[in-house]
Amino acid sequence: MESVQEHYSAMMVAIRRYAPYVDIEKVDAAYQYAEEKHASQKRKDGSPYVIHPLAVAEIIAEIGLDTDAVVGALLHDCIEDTDSSFDDIAKRFGRTVAELVEGVTKLTRVQYSTTEEQQMENLRKMFMAMSKDIRVILIKIADRLHNTRTLQYQTPAKKISKSLETMEIYAPLAHRLGMQKIKWELEDESLKYLEPEAYNEIMAYLDAHEEQANQFMRGVQSKITTRLSSVGIHGKIYGRIKHVYSIFRKMKSQHKTIDELYDLYAFRIIVDTIPDCYNVLGHIHDLFNLVPGRFKDYISTPKPNMYQSLHTTVIGSDGIPFEVQIRTWDMHQTAEYGVAAHWKYKQGVNKTGDEKDFEWIRRLLESQQDTDAEEYVHSLKVDMFDDEVFVFTPKGKVISLPQGSTPIDFAYAIHSAVGNSMVGAKIAGRIAKIDEPLKNGDIVEVITSKTAKGPSRDWLKICKSNQARNKIRQWFKKECREENIAHGKASFEAELRHFNINPNVLNNAEVLPTVLKKVCFDSLDDMYAAIGYGGITAQKCVGRIRDELVQAAKPAKDPKDTGLNLNKAPTHNESGVIVGGDIGSCMVKFSRCCTPVPGDDIVGFITKGYGVSIHRKDCPNAKAASDPAQADRWVQVSWANTESEPFSTTLEIDSNARQGVFLDVATILASAKVRVTEISARDLPNDRALTLATFDVKNIDELNAIKQKIRGLSGVTDVRRGRH
Ligand code: MN
Repeated sequence: MESVQEHYSAMMVAIRRYAPYVDIEKVDAAYQYAEEKHASQKRKDGSPYVIHPLAVAEIIAEIGLDTDAVVGALLHDCIEDTDSSFDDIAKRFGRTVAELVEGVTKLTRVQYSTTEEQQMENLRKMFMAMSKDIRVILIKIADRLHNTRTLQYQTPAKKISKSLETMEIYAPLAHRLGMQKIKWELEDESLKYLEPEAYNEIMAYLDAHEEQANQFMRGVQSKITTRLSSVGIHGKIYGRIKHVYSIFRKMKSQHKTIDELYDLYAFRIIVDTIPDCYNVLGHIHDLFNLVPGRFKDYISTPKPNMYQSLHTTVIGSDGIPFEVQIRTWDMHQTAEYGVAAHWKYKQGVNKTGDEKDFEWIRRLLESQQDTDAEEYVHSLKVDMFDDEVFVFTPKGKVISLPQGSTPIDFAYAIHSAVGNSMVGAKIAGRIAKIDEPLKNGDIVEVITSKTAKGPSRDWLKICKSNQARNKIRQWFKKECREENIAHGKASFEAELRHFNINPNVLNNAEVLPTVLKKVCFDSLDDMYAAIGYGGITAQKCVGRIRDELVQAAKPAKDPKDTGLNLNKAPTHNESGVIVGGDIGSCMVKFSRCCTPVPGDDIVGFITKGYGVSIHRKDCPNAKAASDPAQADRWVQVSWANTESEPFSTTLEIDSNARQGVFLDVATILASAKVRVTEISARDLPNDRALTLATFDVKNIDELNAIKQKIRGLSGVTDVRRGRH
């Protein structure tokens, strides 16, 4: 059993050695407080609970963080596990400490119940989004490190689930923040429980070959030491066997047994200056045979997580290859502690220790390019998540929603049936309003009832996600036909009266079929229902048939003339398209697959019952025009030179970052004064993003001008006409 006293003095030693600016009295007061609060609690191995926060504080001190971080680490479980409160901690130790503890508590409450890759990615993103202060993540990682070290006291099931989380979330986070030492330990400890056989096999091999390995390493070490001292370079040489998880990964990826593995050994030479690094490199290549293609200069080109070193692989006289890393002491600090090393450096300069602004870390993470694709697949760009909010189901599944989303959006994101039977919501266990904006990390519970009346029309205005809006519309479409018909009829008739058309004109048996054909509905009720649920507007319907109705309402001048004149053949109709051939007057519809606009090369396809649909000539659907079986259904069409209504069209924009491009596209569209009906963006793998913008243009010239501007945006790689 570990003793409190041992841990207390280990923490103090770490503080004196690595975190010299720490206020010892405050740390001691925090320790007393934690001990008192946790007095009645024991760890799984039976030791006093306070050992855990002490050990976490020790890790935090070891990576060199400031007083507030060490104090925060000591108190990190107080809010979650004892009767202590935010206010109490803020009163005794200051607001910053209380915020750190609260931040860690929020992350602690995060529950994972899945290993789905997408979920893990969301969790990692959420961790970054939730931790406004980087120290929160560092304390959480230290917390996990100590729990991982003491995992042997947990149940078998817990060993596995915790190790999975560690491997999927905490080790990548530690890596992302450049903390190699902690990352390795987390990986090795987790592998022990996740792949016990492989772990034991590797350990057994390493044990069996320990003497051999040490002898080999001593030999290389003394050879290098002798050379360096003979040329007067001051440096320290460490030999090590690569860590277990990296051996495991190499065995897997290269399909090799451990004794077939190429390089098990790594040597690290730490020197005082950068010129010394390159000097040492020359001597290494002189002493041993260089393995071609393995030299990497991470000093002139640092890795994205700030790592710097020279890497080379050489072969000794006995034919065993090994890797050599050469770096300065500063680089070594960064390699071991990553972000924390820089934090410490900054703190030493201004000594205030209450750096609220972590912009520099955000910038750092943001500027990370995925140079090393395999290593950096899991990107963590804090700023990217400003337009998203991550919340939990009661079972711990992460749901990502647009910023500002409400429990309504959440319910529909779960399932439309959940949304449709929602009668209320709880956030973190308390009853919440269904229009309350959700915050990162909220646990949201939807209260449903079998007797729920279904969504209200107001919800369409409240919800933020298109998904929710579409599902609510769907519901109105299906469930409320009678009501929709009544609503739709009322607004349709109001629109008719707006043009002084008597709705009774529709009772004319000769007019009705023509009208229905024009609006593409089988019955008037169908049309009313569509207007009622919002599928089409009353204005649009009336617009399509206004001329006919006005004509029909006029008294006939000639007994033979009904006044409708629908079968005469005007050369073009109000759609702005001239249809060739013997088609005569017909309904024209613009295809939604390629959204043609005036100026595009177009063809027409005679549909069954819906008139002629217009496609761009380069639309894949129009390529079918070459199919001889349908040849007679394709007709020549051209644009009429008339000012017509604007045409809706869609652009697809490929880019390598999302947020900036999204806003820039919106700005261009706004300044072009076009009506935008939809704009959306989604992330693609490898830090790519796809933005879709649907808007109205008058003609191809206007569209091309907009395309040109978007193409000029930085980050944009392609702009295409969209296909629905
Ligand atoms: Mn803890």
